[in-house]
Amino acid sequence: MRYFYVDPSAVEGALAVIEGAEAAHARHVLRLSRGSEVGLVDGCGFEYRAVIDRMLPGRIELQIREKIPAAGIPSLRLGLAQGWLKEKKMDRLVRTLSELGVARLIPLVCARAVVKPAAGRDAFRFERWRRIAVEALKQCRRGVLLEIGEGLRFERLLAAETAWEARILFWEEASEPLSAADVRGGEVTSALAVLGPEGGFSREEAERAAAAGFLLRRLGPRVLRAETAAAAAAALLQHLAGDLGATPKRS
Ligand code: SAH
Repeated sequence: MRYFYVDPSAVEGALAVIEGAEAAHARHVLRLSRGSEVGLVDGCGFEYRAVIDRMLPGRIELQIREKIPAAGIPSLRLGLAQGWLKEKKMDRLVRTLSELGVARLIPLVCARAVVKPAAGRDAFRFERWRRIAVEALKQCRRGVLLEIGEGLRFERLLAAETAWEARILFWEEASEPLSAADVRGGEVTSALAVLGPEGGFSREEAERAAAAGFLLRRLGPRVLRAETAAAAAAALLQHLAGDLGATPKRS
């Protein structure tokens, strides 16, 4: 069955409406028609089984047959702050982190970042990332859309992101590997992983993070490319939390 993204505000009772690119794809590419059965994901924890009722230009109205809690919701709320990477790498990272059930991506402006965008929100770039996250949501049928936070400066991250139960900065020069104890044996409900840009973190940044209470952890003896390290860190933390492999506990 084909899945489409539906904005939660476009679901009212047993009626759902999909519009724009999603509607065009269903109509012109997949040639769906009245009576076709489709899946809908709303990015807020639910999936729907629905039947197309009316096909209008740029708009499809559907009758919902069944509403079920989405399966792919991890028990760990995992944030990942990523030193800004070049465009295509960031685009690929949005998809990778979506598939690994990361809850929130925070783009980070670091000392050695090759790309030095201003902190804050560059509307065009964030809209592209949101579209990639919606595509990944449908493709991997995760229940909740990846949040993409405002771009933050490194200092701001250390000062502001204090609510996470575990805060871990991954650094190739750290002495300790990640362990289950770092996430209380998988019992923490939230964790923030921080990864550097292509040029890595400066020693000063790592030391400032440690002073702010972040754990510094190593991902093995090899120096990983930034996007490899981000995927490895997310997968390890999800595994320790019991998400990958074990049946995800519904939050
Ligand atoms: N500084 C290296 C590469 C940095 S890779 C260089 O200049 O070639 C980008 C980020 O990936 C690093 O900042 C770090 O967050 C993460 N990373 C890469 N290898 C790692 C390892 N072995 N352990 C922990 N983190 C690692």
